[in-house]
Amino acid sequence: MLTDAYNRTIRDLRISLTDRCNFRCFYCLPHGEPAWARKEKLLNYEEIAFLAEVFVELGIRKIRLTGGEPLVRRDVSVLVRMLAELKPELSDIALTTNGYDFVRHADDLKEAGLDRVTFSVDTLRRERFEKITGVDALEPVLASIETAKRIGLEPVKVNAVIVRGRNEDEVVELAAFAREHSVSMRFIEYMPLDAGHGWRREDVVSGREIRKAISEVFPIEAASARASSTSQSYRFVDGSPGEIGIIASVTEMFCGACSRIRLTADGQIRTCLFSKVEHDLAGPLRNGAAADEIAELIRNAVAQKEAQHYINEPDFVQPERTMSFIGG
Ligand code: SAM
Ligand code: SF4
Repeated sequence: MLTDAYNRTIRDLRISLTDRCNFRCFYCLPHGEPAWARKEKLLNYEEIAFLAEVFVELGIRKIRLTGGEPLVRRDVSVLVRMLAELKPELSDIALTTNGYDFVRHADDLKEAGLDRVTFSVDTLRRERFEKITGVDALEPVLASIETAKRIGLEPVKVNAVIVRGRNEDEVVELAAFAREHSVSMRFIEYMPLDAGHGWRREDVVSGREIRKAISEVFPIEAASARASSTSQSYRFVDGSPGEIGIIASVTEMFCGACSRIRLTADGQIRTCLFSKVEHDLAGPLRNGAAADEIAELIRNAVAQKEAQHYINEPDFVQPERTMSFIGG
């Protein structure tokens, strides 16, 4: 088991496949984005699969592939197939995608062993979608959600980052979408991880505000006590299908229940989204380190996992790395 200094068991690994993306969400990769990592710095699939095997031997049970946009990497299903060989110890392989190019890959991904998928949809209005992401792509993204449901990659989750003045007026419509389409709609507080460093505390729409807006129209109740999850789930009191999730990373810190670590696209372990240090696995891996040496590096990194993030401290400094690089 991987346990940190605060007795948290680490079971979830998020792997960023690339820092590149075909969208330009203003809260993540606005213009003025950082330079892309050189291609040769990104881990190849063999390297990712080798590291994943070590992580799973140490106790990782869930892997989520993310980015940047993971589906801009070629043949992600090839990697999923490699990871699926780590089942049943690895119980869950998930993907977070903007959904732009999912339909084309859906069957291959499912067949390769993908268990679940999360999409990002911050608005259901076509023009606003383009304003938020830089791409007129609401339609293909909605088609991706239907495809995922049709092929049984359920429960489908949908992430929506709610930002003041941009989409907070759509919270209830997004909740209605969860009911109509039987998906889990997860509202995420805006975090200071945008490449443009444009985050302002007053733009954060709190989980509390979101819960209140939804409950006034659709009464909801907590679905289960938060275990080792960063999201608090709610069901609709009237028994409607669909679910609400609230990820209030800024205003309701859940660090005490955190079971996650991240591997960046260039092979660095980050033990928190807001870590100030990274732990290099790519260098040792490329210098021929054996599995047990890598395992030791992972254990050491986990031992240094931060007690909590410091967004709310007066001396908080936004990390250099952005959400697109770290892997949200
Ligand atoms: N490109 C994929 C996507 O958008 O789903 C996967 C990577 S993206 C970084 C993962 C998640 O992080 C998305 O749901 C996105 O909305 C969220 N995200 C990005 N920047 C964020 C920010 N500044 N605050 C909160 N969530 C953010
Ligand atoms: Fe791309 Fe996802 Fe970031 Fe949007 S949130 S810019 S889709 S990586």
